[in-house]
Amino acid sequence: MSEEVLHAEILVLGGGPGGYSAAFRAADLGKQVVLIERYPVLGGVCLNVGCIPSKALLHTAHIIHEAEEIQQHGVSFNKPTLDIDKIRAWKESVTKALNDGLAGLVKQRKVKFIQGSGEFTGPDTLVVNTDNGAVTVRFNQAIIAAGSHPTKIPGFPYDDPRLMDSTGALALKTIPKKLLVVGGGIIGLEMATVYHAFGSEISVVELMDQIIPGCDKDLITPLFRRIKKQYSNIWLETRVTGIESQPDGLKVSFDGKDAPTFELFDAVLVAVGRRPNGKLIGAEQAGIQVNEQGFIQVDKQQRTNVSNIFAIGDIVGNPMLAHKAVHEGKVAAEVASGMKAGFDALTIPSVAYTDPEIAWMGLTENQAKQEGIDYEKGVFPWAASGRSLSMGRKEGITKILSDKETGQILGAGMVGPNAGELIAEAVLALEMGSDMEDISLSIHAHPTLSETFAFAAEMITGTITDLYIKKDKN
Ligand code: NAD
Repeated sequence: MSEEVLHAEILVLGGGPGGYSAAFRAADLGKQVVLIERYPVLGGVCLNVGCIPSKALLHTAHIIHEAEEIQQHGVSFNKPTLDIDKIRAWKESVTKALNDGLAGLVKQRKVKFIQGSGEFTGPDTLVVNTDNGAVTVRFNQAIIAAGSHPTKIPGFPYDDPRLMDSTGALALKTIPKKLLVVGGGIIGLEMATVYHAFGSEISVVELMDQIIPGCDKDLITPLFRRIKKQYSNIWLETRVTGIESQPDGLKVSFDGKDAPTFELFDAVLVAVGRRPNGKLIGAEQAGIQVNEQGFIQVDKQQRTNVSNIFAIGDIVGNPMLAHKAVHEGKVAAEVASGMKAGFDALTIPSVAYTDPEIAWMGLTENQAKQEGIDYEKGVFPWAASGRSLSMGRKEGITKILSDKETGQILGAGMVGPNAGELIAEAVLALEMGSDMEDISLSIHAHPTLSETFAFAAEMITGTITDLYIKKDKN
């Protein structure tokens, strides 16, 4: 088989949101771009086995829950019947529409797409192993966007299909009667939401003393209270010490304060984080430094220690979020195209698409306390929001942290339905350097959930009228 040799002004390794954004931006800046992706479709983990399919399933789960809960408002539906093949097909139709859209964008921008797995062979060459043999690409500059993979706890029987990672759980092959979710982080809790709505009895086991450990406790509490009622067990400060395949299920043993010594489950989802793919791309052959964990260090221009090679997304560090990768991808493409650009976002928002949703950005209260930052806090409870009550939900809160001296916003968090949409306003406020007056004097439509953000600011300025705060007479 003859070896094909190609040339790229800019080579992009990895076709996830970070990679395709970098490739498209570079092409729009007039560069001749080659984009390498091991799968036949673009979109990476996020589009194909992550963010997008999980949101399609979470939407379905949401409807099931709402139909159930609206009984309390006097409307009763029959218990839903699930056609799992149709649900799966719907989820796949969503990802296919986006895959097709990306394929169209590749053509419109004349980006050369090669399907295969790529490995660097030098500081300006990479070999792609395709179904039709090896293709060598010589490049002037490269952008690595090769992502991450799920962390595996050693010693578990991964060849047993009842033991799943997030990809397996999203494949929705069956609905297990009893599902154990190992890891109370974002993936674990989002998938627990889906499988609970589809009828599984859920148990969650989490190593730390709270679910979603990085998040402020007051934002977690409303979610924790709700799922505590819905799920069979939430075992905190507990470790899974072993999983054994048995004919009638997976026998899981635990070590923790409230957990049993062992229990049998029909399926287990392991969602204990993700690892960067830095050690899987031949980086050392290009002279790129990769740390022990597999991360590649970059500067503000996304440049690695090799001057013509950039890296973006999960492979350069946490948080492993698509929206971070997209912004980094654009910076790398711009710098590689000769523009003066740098990654200087003030915050990268986090969203857990659970029910209720949790979203936060900027400084968290945990961080403020750890770092000794003097802050003021405004918390508005959604129990006083007409819009939230009319949705039958009163557990949410919106919290703002501001600088004690300047009144400028430092951070914000929300928990409640649609919190993931509402956090965008807080991000904009932070990027614009808004203070509490800017926010409280911006007229928010009534009745909306977005008002809660202005009300939280009013809690700080002392101008709130929707709640009564006792004034200090002195
Ligand atoms: P995570 O790091 O968010 O959560 C993993 C959880 O597992 C943590 O709470 C951790 O304490 C716990 N854990 C670790 N080892 C354990 C063990 N042995 N036993 C029990 N618990 C254990 O990771 P994830 O949920 O797998 O998500 C992976 C990445 O994907 C994250 O970076 C996340 O931000 C990203 N992601 C984001 C979204 C979103 O933005 N909505 C959705 C899915 C994934």
